[in-house]
Amino acid sequence: MHKTIIIGTGPAGLTAAIYLARANMEPLVIEGWQPGGQLTTTTEVENFPGFPDGILGSELMSNMRKQAQRFGASFKTGSVKSVDFSKRPYTIEVEGLGQLQADSIIISTGASAKYLGIPGEQDNLGRGVSTCATCDGFFFRGKKLIVIGGGDSAMEEASFLTRFATDVRLVHRREELRASKIMQDRARDNDKISWSLNNTPLEVVGGENGLQGLRVLSNETGKEELLEADGVFVAIGHTPNTGFLGGQIATDEQGYIIVKPGTTETNIPGVFACGDVQDKIYRQAITAAGSGCMAALDCERYLEALVHETINS
Ligand code: NAP
Repeated sequence: MHKTIIIGTGPAGLTAAIYLARANMEPLVIEGWQPGGQLTTTTEVENFPGFPDGILGSELMSNMRKQAQRFGASFKTGSVKSVDFSKRPYTIEVEGLGQLQADSIIISTGASAKYLGIPGEQDNLGRGVSTCATCDGFFFRGKKLIVIGGGDSAMEEASFLTRFATDVRLVHRREELRASKIMQDRARDNDKISWSLNNTPLEVVGGENGLQGLRVLSNETGKEELLEADGVFVAIGHTPNTGFLGGQIATDEQGYIIVKPGTTETNIPGVFACGDVQDKIYRQAITAAGSGCMAALDCERYLEALVHETINS
């Protein structure tokens, strides 16, 4: 039986672990088979405060993990299959570890970027293909870029990337955009953005010295074309990793956990959520870490109240 279990080891979960370990709460952290979260799929992180020369994403996460361990957090590896939040202590079922119980749970399982699943996409990940303009845009100064998608993310990423790129081509599989009007207008008003609408992405074409570009199929003419680019940003949305909760926590229609405004409290007392699993707007390592700190403080307060409740009952 544990005081608290943290599920997920991105910046949110590990920051929560550091704070709870330092508060003597001896958190148990469950890390999945891809520990460290999305940051481990990027290369250099240049916008995390405190690292003036940047730091590798994997190194940053490994440092956070060591920091949590130093104060007494323990780690177990396994994939959480299901949860039972109907009564306290709460139970989680972890593949290979069986059932674990705790008085409180912090969910920090993040979100996964959606991929197209076309040839060349995964092979060139981190070598010209990216799912995060804020993380990687800086590396494409003076280059030609493609952004794929027709939603707000694609509009936002394309607009942001024009700060670095000479030109940005927006490729979308339909004629109509899904993005809000204001985001569309902003992108359309930007001279550096050109459009390939009604084009289905077929293949990311690599070369010896970086990418050649994106091969697309025009849905109008039925012809294939290679759109040249040095970088391809896939911006077709994210999926919050909440499937294992089996509907026991309130989420929005896209599956993001709903937290009480200004807190990390979910609809179940003693269950908290932090990081990208409850954030579809900011999605930054630093905001995830900040919300991890909030979750630890919320959790600490909850556990203290629980002790008083037990003493007084
Ligand atoms: P989204 O609204 O779901 O849009 C995803 C886009 O990717 C759609 O245009 C979709 O095409 C396209 N797409 C999906 N799968 C594809 C595939 N296999 N091949 C080609 N294209 C594919 O996702 P999002 O843009 O990430 O936005 C998610 C939510 O976050 C929205 O509620 C959005 O408003 C919000 N958001 C807000 C902001 C902001 O306010 N600053 C910024 C970003 C996101 P179809 O249109 O053909 O389906």
